[in-house]
Amino acid sequence: MTEPELKRTGELTLADTARHFFDEAAPKLKLSESMIELLSYPKRELIVNFPVMMDNNQVKRFVGYRVQHHPVLGPCKGGIRFHPQVTLEEVEGLALLMTWKTSLMNLPFSGAKGGVRCNPKEMSVGELERLTRRYAAEISPIIGPDLDIPAPDVYTGPREMGWIVDTISMHHDSQFMPGLVTGKPIVLGGSLGRDAATARGGYFTTLESLKHLELDINQTSAAIQGYGNAGWHMAHFLHDGGSKLVAVSDSKGGIYNANGLDPYKVFDYKKESGSVVGFPGSDKISNNELLELDCDILVPSALEDQITKDNADKVRAKLIVELANGPTSVEADEILNDRGVFIIPDFLANGGGVTVSYFEWVQDRYRYFWSAETVDERLNQFMTTAFQKVLNMHLKHKVSTRLAAYMTAVERVVEAVNARGFYA
Ligand code: GLU
Repeated sequence: MTEPELKRTGELTLADTARHFFDEAAPKLKLSESMIELLSYPKRELIVNFPVMMDNNQVKRFVGYRVQHHPVLGPCKGGIRFHPQVTLEEVEGLALLMTWKTSLMNLPFSGAKGGVRCNPKEMSVGELERLTRRYAAEISPIIGPDLDIPAPDVYTGPREMGWIVDTISMHHDSQFMPGLVTGKPIVLGGSLGRDAATARGGYFTTLESLKHLELDINQTSAAIQGYGNAGWHMAHFLHDGGSKLVAVSDSKGGIYNANGLDPYKVFDYKKESGSVVGFPGSDKISNNELLELDCDILVPSALEDQITKDNADKVRAKLIVELANGPTSVEADEILNDRGVFIIPDFLANGGGVTVSYFEWVQDRYRYFWSAETVDERLNQFMTTAFQKVLNMHLKHKVSTRLAAYMTAVERVVEAVNARGFYA
């Protein structure tokens, strides 16, 4: 464990951006200095250095983290990412963001995040399994169904969650503990609808925004940056809902067709060829060009920092749905707001993932599982309620939708802190 010191760097990282908006929300909510101080720091941080046997029979050291922000609303909740750039500071910021996300979605959870600095693309399945199991064993003292519930994040998925459940169960005399992690394979107690939940939640908030903007989805066009899990599911939800999908992209570049693309055919093409680029009947465009296209709905669903002060004034969409975490820089957010672009901020737009994680945790506790229709219906209720709260805050206080989302989320956490009082 360390004494955390939040560092601020010259360039704003995702974590810095989260802190920036918390700092802006705090005076609007008239938070006391001590409340700001308390909520700016995580409650608990675990750093683990551990060995993994590699395929060449050499033991290699890896570093991993698990950060819990403040378990004030309930157990901590948040994903585990495997990435070469994972740092303690990044995990701290992401844990903070999870607190705002779970609060905004009205879940009985607080924020956490975990990560291991590694490059999964250069590791065999066997190495990844040994790394996951050892990391799970290392953080096992601070995770549990009522303590801290991990989930997938960047480069982790149901497979890794299955390994974690198995490892921890082995440490507890084979006691099966499905409520320990979410995002598991269905056969181990995963929830129906969890795989498409992030995009489906984003789609529900898109429908609410279109109502607010008085736009008919059938008269809209959409461009989606990123064709991974979130981007692809969003593409077919929008298409099936009546929007014309004019452009999509992946890490190799983008494709454009003013008459519309069929997302299902693009999906099959990418599966065969490895990229959307080259899809018959489309023109090749760059990822940057996609952001500046003439379209109504723009969905960044890939990387951080895509819309910056350099291109924000060239964005022509009326609505931006941030399925990615942190796609818009602080400066760009201001430019877009001044230009009247309506933004569904990341931790609202992509809050559907953790919401269905919550549903999974509830189902695991009852050992009684819901139909896909029930999951979608309840997700719709949660997303729509969160959206309306943010919209009301935005209109009432005349602040950006992002600041409105922070204010809504922080307010609930502060209420809970005050209701519990201080054991100081
Ligand atoms: N990693 C996802 C997120 O950042 C999901 C977290 C969860 O389901 O606990 O929202």
